[in-house]
Amino acid sequence: MRTSARLHTELTAIIDRAYDATDRADGPMIRALLGDLAGTGLDQRTAAFLSQAHQLALDTTAALTSVLDTHRFGSCCSECGTSDPCRTIRGISEIFIPSSDASHSRA
Ligand SMILES: [Zn+2]
Repeated sequence: MRTSARLHTELTAIIDRAYDATDRADGPMIRALLGDLAGTGLDQRTAAFLSQAHQLALDTTAALTSVLDTHRFGSCCSECGTSDPCRTIRGISEIFIPSSDASHSRA
């Protein structure tokens, strides 16, 4: 079972890796490749999503980093004051670490 601090550290590492991978991706190349998809039968909604996906991934991971920074863990959550993983950290961990069992972790 993970401690609350360890869970927070693992989540931060996951989000940092996702941000770094997205940031290293070649945005202009992605847009160029998407231009090559014209006429392939790709529906407009999917094409619109793909055209925004790189920036959305950057923005989403940056926002999650901000949330994790706000709910950083020392002896308790710096925002919520709980010694167990707070509701925010539990919610994020359920997505990124489904087996974390964060609701039963102890500090
Ligand atoms: Zn919190």
